[in-house]
Amino acid sequence: MATFGNLSARLTETFKNLRAKGKLSASDVDSTVREIRRALLEADVALDVVKEFTGRVRERALGDEVNQALNPAQQVVQIVNEELVGILGGEQRRLQFAKNPPTIIMLAGLQGAGKTTLAGKLAKWLKDQGHTPLLVACDLQRPNAVTQLGVVAEQAGAAIFAPEPGNGVGDPVQVARNGVAEARAKQYDFVIVDTAGRLGVDEELMRQAADIRRAVDPDEVLFVIDAMIGQDAVATAQAFQEGVDFTGVVLTKLDGDARGGAALSIRSVTGRPILFASTGEGLGDFEPFHPDRMASRILD
Ligand code: GDP
Repeated sequence: MATFGNLSARLTETFKNLRAKGKLSASDVDSTVREIRRALLEADVALDVVKEFTGRVRERALGDEVNQALNPAQQVVQIVNEELVGILGGEQRRLQFAKNPPTIIMLAGLQGAGKTTLAGKLAKWLKDQGHTPLLVACDLQRPNAVTQLGVVAEQAGAAIFAPEPGNGVGDPVQVARNGVAEARAKQYDFVIVDTAGRLGVDEELMRQAADIRRAVDPDEVLFVIDAMIGQDAVATAQAFQEGVDFTGVVLTKLDGDARGGAALSIRSVTGRPILFASTGEGLGDFEPFHPDRMASRILD
């Protein structure tokens, strides 16, 4: 994954130096931890997350598991791997299904994060598993959003519920409610609610998203975030957590060449699991998120 190219290269270099050492002294551990710290900060990982991460790695690297290891350097790499899996969320967290269908998934995030594209990706992924998703167009802010959702719905072969064109701007909360009612009436087993985003966080956006959330009581509220936004990721995620609250995160644009810090910070900062990763513009460029696979890619 291009996103982690630099970080991966830095860590590989650090571990190469370490492997040359054989037995490790406390100062070897300290210099390794310092290099890891620098590499993470350069990748735009949030400072608090870096501190916690390197603190844990250092403590474990100075302990018995490394001291008594046959190959101490390899053991340190193993610790870094385990701690990376930890900050990425540990176990994979799967999408929660409603006991009684339809399962309602609401998408929230800034404009341009990739929500509408994700709606199509999710729909295709669900359809491939034999589900019947209905996409509900509640982004009535951006002139083209409803049309764009129609395009991805068609690509995914999924149905769409949208306000009639020419009926004015309409009320997104009502559209969400009507969309869910339509899904129940026509027995779709998933509803994906696309909501409006703004270029920056604003109160009206949050209020509207919170109103939609209250109106349709989703099984999942997915916060969609562009992995390329770097340091802004933390503040944006916190604003959405306070404003709407969300049950999970979707990282988009992991194919980009940004530094990837958002991916590593977001779980620790919000306490919410990453459910999916998006790696391109095509509907197939999407996968459930596996913390262990991501950690392996970073340490590749
Ligand atoms: P929204 O405003 O949140 O609905 O965002 P869109 O779904 O319209 O996406 C904004 C732009 O990002 C579009 O040009 C998408 O094609 C693009 N995009 C979405 N997801 C990805 C991704 O994972 N990788 C890349 N490279 N581009 C993406």
